[in-house]
Amino acid sequence: MTRRRTDEVGVLAEIFSSFQGEGPLVGNRQVFVRTAGCNLSCSYCDSPKFRCEVEFCEVLSPQASAPLQRADNPVTTSWAMEEILGLWARGTHSVSITGGEPLCQPDFALSLATGCAAEGLPVYFETNGYSASRFRRLIPWIDFAAVDIKLQSHRSCPPDRWSRLFENEISCIDGATRSGVATIAKTVILDATTSEEIEQLCDRLEGLDATLVLQPVSGDKRPGPEKLIQLHQAASEHRGDVVIIPQAHKMMGVL
Ligand code: SF4
Repeated sequence: MTRRRTDEVGVLAEIFSSFQGEGPLVGNRQVFVRTAGCNLSCSYCDSPKFRCEVEFCEVLSPQASAPLQRADNPVTTSWAMEEILGLWARGTHSVSITGGEPLCQPDFALSLATGCAAEGLPVYFETNGYSASRFRRLIPWIDFAAVDIKLQSHRSCPPDRWSRLFENEISCIDGATRSGVATIAKTVILDATTSEEIEQLCDRLEGLDATLVLQPVSGDKRPGPEKLIQLHQAASEHRGDVVIIPQAHKMMGVL
């Protein structure tokens, strides 16, 4: 499918070159495009400053102590693409479109994905999966999908909205895997996470060709070794491809 780059406007927080710090593609160099604004409020959120709209988009590189560039929001897709191409270096794996939550700006997210596709740059799309209908429009343009599944105990939304959120996330994973997108189903695990929650998740993922990543939260609420074994075992009763991968970018000291 071909689609010309369309010039939408949207709110970005950052564009930078770094290494993927989560999931099975950990260690791959990427250009990250971080949208600002998120509709959820996860208890463990490590990027609260990106949950709201921001005044500027900063272009950063791992070596730079100060931003290489700063642009007033909203920015255009054309501007973002110029910055992405400027940061793309030999050995870069893909462009990570992340947030905040990119699906909160669906037309802009689509234009970024199609812009990357038009330049031949593989797209890694990271989402909380709250809208399967918005996500579906992006599927033809993405190569990798990382869908962050929110467990009830994450308190990402009011309790009466959680089932709908969860079903949308599963539907995103279903749509991506059926379209041949390499799909990562990630969930953050806390010390309070229960085996029952993981089993419920595995039930709904049954038959879907996604790698399940259990990501221990960083910081004080980090689960201990016994909890890791317990949750991995609970998941492995249901599926073979379960891995525990912590956030590596924090260990590497990169963005
Ligand atoms: S979805 Fe991501 S950015 Fe939004 S509140 Fe949760 S952890 Fe934070």
